[in-house]
Amino acid sequence: MPDDLKSELAPSFIFSQSSLQDYFDCPRRFQLRYIEHLAWPSVETEPVQENEHRQQEGQLFHRMVQQHLVGLPVEKLTRLANSADLSRWWENYLGYKFELDGYTQSTELTLSAPCGSHRLLAKYDLVAILSGRKALIFDWKTSHKRPRDEWMAVRMQTRVYRALLVQAGSYLNGAAPIPPEQVEMVYWYADFPSEPTRFPYNAAQYKRDWDALMGLINEISNHRHFPLADDEKKCAFCPYRSYCNRGVKAGVLDESDLGMETTGTDFNLNFEQIAEIEF
Ligand code: SF4
Repeated sequence: MPDDLKSELAPSFIFSQSSLQDYFDCPRRFQLRYIEHLAWPSVETEPVQENEHRQQEGQLFHRMVQQHLVGLPVEKLTRLANSADLSRWWENYLGYKFELDGYTQSTELTLSAPCGSHRLLAKYDLVAILSGRKALIFDWKTSHKRPRDEWMAVRMQTRVYRALLVQAGSYLNGAAPIPPEQVEMVYWYADFPSEPTRFPYNAAQYKRDWDALMGLINEISNHRHFPLADDEKKCAFCPYRSYCNRGVKAGVLDESDLGMETTGTDFNLNFEQIAEIEF
C-alpha cells in the first residue's frame, strides 16, 4: 500500500453524517474517500446487481414520498411502484398515520452551520414543525431488516440531524430558536411501518452532541495520520479492501448484520447514503 497519501483536509470541506460515520468506522476510509478522493476500486457487497437494484428502489421510494408530500396525486405516484418491494413500501406508507395535521412540512431540506473548523451539513427527508410545540425529523429507511434501536441511537445520523436542527433550524420556526426538548427524530421503516424508532432530545444531549461534533471535526482537520480499522469486520463491505490488503472478495450483503455491534458498514453504504446521494 502506498505510504504517500495526502493527509490535509481542504479548508472548504463540508462534513456530513456520512463522512463523520466513515471516520468513526475507519479513519483510513475517511482519508481515502474524502482527502484522496480515491475511486472505489472494489465492489462493496455481493451480489452486486441485487444490491444496486435495491438502492435504486430505495431512491425511487424516497422520491415518491417526497412528491406525495408536496402534493402530487396518489394515483399518479402509485403507477411508479412497479416492483413488489416498491408496492409494499408504498402501501405501507399510505396506510400509516403520520399525524402531521397543523405541521409545517419541509421535504428534501438541507441545513448547514459552522461546526468547529468546518461546516456541517445535513439533508433531511422531512422536517415537520408545529410552532412552539414540536419539531419532528423523519427519515425513511427501506432496509429489509429492522436495525436495533440501540444501534440507531449511536449512529452519526441520529446525533447530527437533531443537533443541526437545533443549531440551524430557527428559520423554520418563525426565526425563534428550536428548543432541544421539542425535537424528535423518527426513523420510519418502510417494511416495518408500525415499528418506527423515535429519538426524543433534550438540552443536555444537544450540548453533548454539538460539543462532540465540534471536537471530532477539529480532530479530523488536524489529523495527519489515519490508521486502518482495528476491527477487520468493517473491511468486508468496504470498497478499499484491495487497496488496504484487507481481502479482495466483497462481503455478502446480509441485512441480519444490521444492529450488530461489530459492523454496520453495509447499512451505512447502502441505505444512509441514499438520502445523501439523491437530493
Ligand atoms: S478496507 Fe478496512 S482498513 Fe481499509 S479503508 Fe476500508 S475499512 Fe478501513
